[in-house]
Amino acid sequence: MIEPFASRPAPKLVFGPGSLKELPACVREVGGSAIFLVSDTGIVRAGHVERARQFLEDAGIPVALHDHSHENPTEADAAACRDVALRHTFDCIVALGGGSSMDTAKAGNFLLTNGGAMRDYHGYGKATKPMLPFIAIPTTSGTGSECQSYALVSRDDTHEKMACGDPKAKARIAILDPELTETQPRSVAILTGLDALAHALESAVSTKRNTISSLYSEAAFRHLSVAIGAVIAGSPSHDDRAHMQLGAAFAGLAIENSMLGAAHASANPLTARHNVTHGHAVALMLPHVMRYNREVPAAAAIYARYSTALADARVSTLRLIDWVHELVAHSAFPAIAGAADDVVVLAQGATQQWTSQFNPRPLQADDYVALYRRALANDGSA
Ligand SMILES: [Zn+2]
Repeated sequence: MIEPFASRPAPKLVFGPGSLKELPACVREVGGSAIFLVSDTGIVRAGHVERARQFLEDAGIPVALHDHSHENPTEADAAACRDVALRHTFDCIVALGGGSSMDTAKAGNFLLTNGGAMRDYHGYGKATKPMLPFIAIPTTSGTGSECQSYALVSRDDTHEKMACGDPKAKARIAILDPELTETQPRSVAILTGLDALAHALESAVSTKRNTISSLYSEAAFRHLSVAIGAVIAGSPSHDDRAHMQLGAAFAGLAIENSMLGAAHASANPLTARHNVTHGHAVALMLPHVMRYNREVPAAAAIYARYSTALADARVSTLRLIDWVHELVAHSAFPAIAGAADDVVVLAQGATQQWTSQFNPRPLQADDYVALYRRALANDGSA
């Protein structure tokens, strides 16, 4: 039986090497004549901001820049973005950068157009007034934020990560230019790439999956799986970067139409309590969560189907979970000091994560304790 669903549409996707040059036409298409560009200092150093500015100014589109996006943006970061924006006149917002720049731009859009603080938008659909047209240009292949209507912003007081979503906050257009990912450090490419792979694999089996999200999950997996090995080896080709960029965007669409699961639920407390980067934490937990999930026949069937999609002849005989495990092992992440003594508190935190309830096999705190013990027992030994 096919479950009923209502899809959440994708932004217009403009894909291709060098497609950054389409930005002025995209701005015009959404009715923009002056833009507020949100980025970060690393992207400025890489030269991408200057190129984008040149394309826009050559087309007669003035640019005001906010280049102070920070990793894991907070309510204060969102307010700072709004305050800079208030000093300028513009009618379109563009984010050029990783997930943090895109989250900061979306958050700034909420505050500029609807007022208040980010905590007022925690949840979905709480912006009552129209928002400015937004164009997203990712420079990493990871979060898929370019395809999502949520801004992830941490509360200033409790540090709780809030998902603040509204259909109006989603990008009208996402420009997917794989050349922009060439300047990211290898470590960032690995962290963001494994996160994207986790988005594909978690959304694929989430209890919220449906016909549309499953299409995106599988397409994301097919693109990511052919290229992630080369990313981890440090030698991605132009084609590999293109696959990663498309795969991350499709995985973002899969989440937009579905949900995540226990790998993200168990990763977040590792980030909050032990400062582990999101991609590292998710990658560490993912194969263990998959082993736990395969006891559910429907999840096992999906994993089996995905195994047959593995294109790399070297790994074609391995099961999907072993393949994921091997990828993570080859990523050579550092051990997480102190986490093994903290599993009870971590597990408590994991049960409170929003995404936990959508995992195909339910988990209690004891289940998370066991998952953390298994993941952290292997940690650092790879
Ligand atoms: Zn993630």
